[in-house]
Amino acid sequence: MPITPYSDIFPTCQTDGQMIDARQQGEISPNAQRVILLLDRLGRLTRELQFVDGLNPAQWETLRFLAQANRYSRTPTALAEYLGATKGTVSQTLISLESKGLVDRCKKTCDRRQVAITLTEAGEAMLHRDPMRTLEKAICEMTADCGGALVTGLSRLLTELQHRREVMHFGVCEDCTMFCKEHGKPKTTNNEPKRCGMTGETLADGECLQLCVNYKAAAE
Ligand code: SF4
Repeated sequence: MPITPYSDIFPTCQTDGQMIDARQQGEISPNAQRVILLLDRLGRLTRELQFVDGLNPAQWETLRFLAQANRYSRTPTALAEYLGATKGTVSQTLISLESKGLVDRCKKTCDRRQVAITLTEAGEAMLHRDPMRTLEKAICEMTADCGGALVTGLSRLLTELQHRREVMHFGVCEDCTMFCKEHGKPKTTNNEPKRCGMTGETLADGECLQLCVNYKAAAE
């Protein structure tokens, strides 16, 4: 991809009208170039933020994932999928977090070949100091419109990229086609027990909002 000079991506003297004219003439694609540059800069900054409290970005991301993942997803395999990392890399991350007392690993009672990972109390306490809260504060100070537009745009971008790279999607029950499928309907009423159509197991309300490795989006 040819590199566009920074001054062309963020021209200080062009009005919106001039930018549109330039795009129509095929001179530059300002939005795409801007988004790439912004994501690159944000990615670098957020990575730098996360070298604190003796942890690195992958270790923080692991703690965050474990705090949000449901019972089917708190495994090294699901974590590797989520992080886009190899099992060996994930194993090293978990060994390090375990040695710091932040996660526990144990054999699953239902299948002794599988390992379940959980956050310890110290791991949960560590998340209260999550350095990404700096970003959270900055986003909270935006207007609702601006925050909403960011969520929509970034979500579309992530989904598109995951689709192109054939990366596994993680999602929550309410958006999953497997949610209560055995009853022949996508959603439950308040009185019915919520259930996973894939495993047949009953789900607590809180679990329906957790990330799932088995999630199936409607369009898949
Ligand atoms: S309904 Fe879907 S998202 Fe929920 S636990 Fe089952 S497979 Fe996962």
